Amino acid sequence: MNILVINAGSSSLKYQLLNPESGELLAKGLCERIGLDGKFTYKPQVEGKQKLDAVDVAMPTHSEAIQAVLNALIDPENGVIASMKEIDAVGHRVVHGGEKFASSVLITDEVMAAIEECNPLAPLHNPANLIGINACTSVLGKDVPQVAVFDTAFHQTMPAKAYTYAIPYEYYKVDKLRRYGFHGTSHRYVSKRCAEILGKDPSELKIVSCHLGNGSSITAVDGGKSVDTSMGLTPLAGLPMGTRSGDMDAGVMEYIMKKYDMGIEEMMNILNKKSGVLGVSEVSSDFRDLTDAAEAGNEQAGLAVEVFEYGVRKMIGEYAAAMGGVDAVIFTAGVGENSADMRLKFVEGLEFMGIEIDPEKNNCRGVERIVSPDGAKVKVMVIPTNEELMIALDTAEIVKAL
Ligand code: AMP
Repeated sequence: MNILVINAGSSSLKYQLLNPESGELLAKGLCERIGLDGKFTYKPQVEGKQKLDAVDVAMPTHSEAIQAVLNALIDPENGVIASMKEIDAVGHRVVHGGEKFASSVLITDEVMAAIEECNPLAPLHNPANLIGINACTSVLGKDVPQVAVFDTAFHQTMPAKAYTYAIPYEYYKVDKLRRYGFHGTSHRYVSKRCAEILGKDPSELKIVSCHLGNGSSITAVDGGKSVDTSMGLTPLAGLPMGTRSGDMDAGVMEYIMKKYDMGIEEMMNILNKKSGVLGVSEVSSDFRDLTDAAEAGNEQAGLAVEVFEYGVRKMIGEYAAAMGGVDAVIFTAGVGENSADMRLKFVEGLEFMGIEIDPEKNNCRGVERIVSPDGAKVKVMVIPTNEELMIALDTAEIVKAL
């Protein structure tokens, strides 16, 4: 069985073709600058096949982009499948499922309408996801089943006390303003892997899952269910990130907007695009650049990294408290998987909770590994995330039941 996994943005589209049963990745790539001067990248994962790197392909709309993907996949010379018939289904990453979707679903006209109803909650992302789905329908036809996998769905198990904002309740009742959380597919994948690696049933485990990359979020997973998470109505909340501020006193906005006569659009642009470790360091949003700059003596870069590390450490403690204990702490995504030094900092001083790292075991990058000392009370683990595989697995499960 082959599943095409699509992550559509407003002017870009990432894709992977994979076999969910074996986990084998056949090809992946990216369509960029859709509607502009289309650039197409294709990376077959099969020996002897040529890749394409940002070549010019006319992609006035997402439909041509999907067509370009299919053309590459079935290309007689460098394709990885013989025909479109070898694509059994398509799995789409959809950012916001609101309160309507607590799990992945087969896409129908009703589901499309329900996703559209969530557009106001993610005005930049959901419309693009819908365009991606429509493009697949127009190119592949209605007979190839398509499944929507939501970034928010895993967090729908949060109790009201965790998702309710302490603002007038009216805004929840009328506008559904509440914490939703994101990165759900990643947190679900790594927490599931964690249970498998430890040979336990998910119901037996209290896990703090730390997805730390350019965007970062931490989730408390109790008994296999998300019970709290750091992102909110939007991905702006929680930890300081590459360019996002994370949690902050709303009074700061009032001060800046009044003093600098700034509108809300500009303020939000600053909080989303110019804040986080980029804002603090005035160097870069990229953690590798920052650790390099800090080592070279740039104190502001060092401070930005410290603010992030401190935020992660505090939240591990917060979520252990929320669950009344912790059995495993997972580190995933760019920083979590790759930075051994930062992992040491994230857990510094948490020995009193039974959380510690063995520096020798921790000397690894991008591999699944338990990095806490043998016999430690809390297992600290590095687990590379794989959202595409999770999407393909969900899609396969839904399609097989049809
Ligand atoms: P992601 O958004 O998951 O792709 O993560 C991207 C972030 O991971 C960037 O800020 C990278 O600098 C960071 N990253 C990747 N490798 C390392 C590393 N070895 N040390 C520190 N940060 C890293």
